[in-house]
Amino acid sequence: MDASGNKFKAKQCFGPLCNGIYRSLESFHKNKKGLGGRKEKCIECVRYDRGTKKRNDNILIEKYIDGKKVTLKSCTVCGEFKELNQYSNAKGQLYNKYPSCKSCENKRLKDYYKDNKAKVNEKGKKYYQENREIDFRKI
Ligand SMILES: [Zn+2]
Ligand SMILES: [Zn+2]
Repeated sequence: MDASGNKFKAKQCFGPLCNGIYRSLESFHKNKKGLGGRKEKCIECVRYDRGTKKRNDNILIEKYIDGKKVTLKSCTVCGEFKELNQYSNAKGQLYNKYPSCKSCENKRLKDYYKDNKAKVNEKGKKYYQENREIDFRKI
């Protein structure tokens, strides 16, 4: 292989949006150490990664899987793009779908019942006391 990158015209991007799709080298930022002299992830995926570190967007993307166009929605909890049937319907919400995917919702509900049932009273009390102290110090 030619490390200088002259022989590469396209490379696979394993970023969150491409998932192994071949993209032209121009789609990647330059990186001397990278395959083909380019970074591992394409510019769009790098930008996407940067965005999701702050928060997970609730967005739709279209993608070709096995030559078929599918619409994917991002989950605001796990950040993964999943097909719309992985989201519960929610009228009035953006895209009429729950912002988070079914598996995140199930996990949240499970955790809620497991953790909160016993702790909620104690936690609430403690939170209230701590915040009262802080408020007093401010005054
Ligand atoms: Zn990419
Ligand atoms: Zn999720």
